Amino acid sequence: MRFALLSLVLTATFGLAGCSSAPLAAPTGTALAMPAPQPPAAMRLYALQTGRMYSRAAFAFKGGRLGDERVFTAGAILIRHPAGTLLFDAGFGPGVEAHRKTSPWLLRVTTKYDHQTSVADQLTAAGIAPSSLTAVVLTHAHWDHVSGLETLPGSPVWVTRDELAFVRGDDASTALARQLGTTRYVAYDFPDGPHLGFARSRDVFGDGSVVLVPAPGHTPGSIVAFIATPDGKRYALIGDTAWQQEGVDLPAEKPWIVRQVDADRAATRAMLIRLHQIKAAMPGLIIVPAHDSRVWATLPRLAPSPAGG
Ligand SMILES: [Zn+2]
Repeated sequence: MRFALLSLVLTATFGLAGCSSAPLAAPTGTALAMPAPQPPAAMRLYALQTGRMYSRAAFAFKGGRLGDERVFTAGAILIRHPAGTLLFDAGFGPGVEAHRKTSPWLLRVTTKYDHQTSVADQLTAAGIAPSSLTAVVLTHAHWDHVSGLETLPGSPVWVTRDELAFVRGDDASTALARQLGTTRYVAYDFPDGPHLGFARSRDVFGDGSVVLVPAPGHTPGSIVAFIATPDGKRYALIGDTAWQQEGVDLPAEKPWIVRQVDADRAATRAMLIRLHQIKAAMPGLIIVPAHDSRVWATLPRLAPSPAGG
C-alpha cells in the first residue's frame, strides 16, 4: 500500500512517529479587552460539509502520531444575519478531482478524499438561493477553500488586499484561485479598532457579531473570523492556521514535512501562540480549524427545507 510505504520512509527519514509532542512556548495571563457583541436574535451559524480528506495526526501537527487517523473536513460556514448572508470558504465543488491536482504532491499522496454535496446544492435544498449570498469570505485562497466557488458564480468573494495580491502573484498554492478567476474578488481593509488583542479589525455588521482580523502566516492574507451568536456562543474560524485543534490547544505547529504549506512559518507560529492565549483567556471560545471534523461535528447543520428547496 502506497501510504504504508510512504509512512515507513517518512518515519525512517524524519522520525515522525516517535517524535515527542513539543508544544510551542506560550506565555499565559494575557489580558484581553472583552468586547460585548450584540448579535441579533435571528442570527444563525451553520456548518456545510462538502467533503472529507483522510490523513493522520502525524501530518496535522507536530507531535501527532502516525497511527492516529484524522478526518479533515472540507466545507463552509454559513452565517445568516438580518443584514446579510455570508459564507466562509466554499468547500469542495464538483470539479474537486481536477482541482485537487493543483495541490502539493506530498499532500495528495498522503491524503485520500471524498466529495459530498456542494455548498450551492446544500443552500438550495435549504431554501436559500445561492445568488442571495452577500459574499463568500475566504479565510484564505488555497484550492480546498475555493473549489466550490464555481457553484456560486454570482457571489462577490471578499479577501484581504494581501490575499488578493497573493492570488494574483505566481504562487503555486493559489493556482486554482487564479484559474477560477478573480474578477469578482473584492479586497477589504480593517478600518475598525482593536479586537481581542488584534490591533485592527473589520466589524462586518457593526454589532460585533462577525469581526474579521488579519492573521497572516499560512498565507499572507489569511484571516480569523470571530463570530458571536445570540445563544451566547463565541467562535473563532481560524482557517488553516492550524489544521486540527491541537495546533491551538498545545499549541503546536504543523509537522516539518508539511510545513511548506505555510507561506510564513514564523508568522504562523506566532499566530498559533496568540490564538492559544486568546483561548486561555476565553475558555468558552470554540476554535474552529477549517479541517477538524471533530469540531465541525459539534456545529449546527443546515437542514433541508420541508418545501424541498
Ligand atoms: Zn485547507
